[in-house]
Amino acid sequence: MSHHPATGLYDTLSHLCLNVGERHLGSPGEAAAQDYLAARLGEGGYEVVREAFDAPGWEYGPFSITTEGGEAIDAFPCYFSPGGEVTAPLVPYTGVEPPETCRGKIAFSGRHDFTHVGDTNALAEKLEKAGAAAWIVNSPYNDTFSTKIVRNPGLERMPVFTISQRTALRLAREAGRPVHLKLEARRFPHRSANLIARHTGSGRRKLVIGAHYDSAPGIQGAADNGTGIALLVHLVRALKPHLGDWSVDFVAFGAEEYGGPGFGLGGFEYMKAHQEEPIEAMLCLDGLGTFLGNPEARVGRNGLLRRWVKEETGFTPRPYRRGSDQGIFDQHGIPTAWFCDGGAPSGIGHFPLHSPQDVLEIVDFTRLERFAADLERFTGRLLREGVPAAPPAEIVPLEKEDLPAVRELVSAVWTMGMSYRREQLYGRVFDAPWQEKIARAVAEYLADEKVHAVKALVDGTFAGFLSYRIDAANRFGEIGYNAVAPAFGGRNLGRRMLDAALEALRCAGVEDVEVITGLDDGHAPARAVYEGAGFRPMHSSIQYTLRL
Ligand SMILES: [Zn+2]
Repeated sequence: MSHHPATGLYDTLSHLCLNVGERHLGSPGEAAAQDYLAARLGEGGYEVVREAFDAPGWEYGPFSITTEGGEAIDAFPCYFSPGGEVTAPLVPYTGVEPPETCRGKIAFSGRHDFTHVGDTNALAEKLEKAGAAAWIVNSPYNDTFSTKIVRNPGLERMPVFTISQRTALRLAREAGRPVHLKLEARRFPHRSANLIARHTGSGRRKLVIGAHYDSAPGIQGAADNGTGIALLVHLVRALKPHLGDWSVDFVAFGAEEYGGPGFGLGGFEYMKAHQEEPIEAMLCLDGLGTFLGNPEARVGRNGLLRRWVKEETGFTPRPYRRGSDQGIFDQHGIPTAWFCDGGAPSGIGHFPLHSPQDVLEIVDFTRLERFAADLERFTGRLLREGVPAAPPAEIVPLEKEDLPAVRELVSAVWTMGMSYRREQLYGRVFDAPWQEKIARAVAEYLADEKVHAVKALVDGTFAGFLSYRIDAANRFGEIGYNAVAPAFGGRNLGRRMLDAALEALRCAGVEDVEVITGLDDGHAPARAVYEGAGFRPMHSSIQYTLRL
């Protein structure tokens, strides 16, 4: 039964979720989705082009994990895991021990915190090289797992499984005892493809609208990214009368979930083939439409497009964030907008991403209908008026949502700080790595109610921030943590943010302002900005150290 026959969103999505199912590289579902999309994208008389590319394929068969007592453990093989059959003792592995401790054993990372370990793929390689018999790694979810928490097609021998945190707690009791694990799986050279509804206009302007059709293994992939595909198929027809002299590629990308080259592979391959073309903007639809989602548009390289998001849609405009097929376009300097469910640092929150819980039932079709109308309006304006010329940098208040960007910036560039110097000087880490310490200190400072902050946006991209504190009772102020991203140096952004802060301090009745900075080379640009704004030296000090 169709809920919304007019847009066909339900028909497309339910077909992908219920009839096609999992759509990872090399799966029957991937091929079925391609056939289906080749037909759907052609509706309305478009030329449908299939652009194929090499990608690793993977298929899996029966699998199981059993305890010594015969209990079946709820687990799933990770994307690209080699097959195998192993009976070996379970050994806890937190990522800190030498991987050799896992030789001939089943490494069990029940406490594995993937936000800190970062690269699970690299860890898998280390364990395999050290001779581990298998690896069981938990996912960041209590009652389900991400089937691509490890996705390394380079593994040759070692099976990798993932489990929920709840299952990890159960399995932890088996430490030291033999566990039996079995997986039929095969990796093979494969050809995937982008499917494109192509409209060739008479003008010199090109627009790309895209959504990936692949999914993580073993899941329906409803919100990620059946919804994006459903909207794409709708827009192909709905925008037809409005294309004018534009050339438009409506792209169903393959291989986004693999993420091999640091971007979705399909987007990467598309860009390789089309980089000489006059692509003026790229709109990306990925991971949206869930009941609890918080719709946002991640706009890069064009502040005015952010404004259009606000004026034409119910999506909240936010700074650019990497994470889908639009990333490679941004890398080429093209303005992008990624429409998604916001809320989590991944850009996609409120449902366990890449897990079997990403099913049709979590999609709110009333919302999805609204998105369809929003996107028609937004894209319609873009086609009518053209991509607006990007405004110069703007200085605006820092928002809570910018904290991850602030954190990323300070931990990338702040090598002139004391935490970093101590690590270098003493050759050891205090409490936490310097990046974490500085990020924590900045977050704490910003949380103070007397502290305010501004940020610099260049073409809608976060380029730096500057914080300041107002002591109203004493009519006194201080300039706090601040930084400009190296990519945006030489544009006077530090000074412009400082001026904005000084103006705000003046308005708050502040009469004197101080700022503390270092005398080393790393702080020279900061000193130049302060002195250029009229600050004069008040006091210098020195910090000693003594080796005992
Ligand atoms: Zn996705």
